[in-house]
Amino acid sequence: MEKEKNYYYADQEGQYLKAIEIALQRIESGEYGQCLECLDLISDKRLEAVPAAELCINCKDKKEKLERGR
Ligand SMILES: [Zn+2]
Repeated sequence: MEKEKNYYYADQEGQYLKAIEIALQRIESGEYGQCLECLDLISDKRLEAVPAAELCINCKDKKEKLERGR
């Protein structure tokens, strides 16, 4: 719980570090490069640009639009 709370209040840098941490965990569990939403593989290009990417470009777009619309 505490960890999650910290995540929400973290600044940009903190969020980035958290994302890296998650990416490392996902590499270990063999899920790296797979979209969390649709389970499609994330493109190599996208992973190169954003190594900690958890969503494919389609799902990320959708999510960003939802967040902006809030
Ligand atoms: Zn996706």
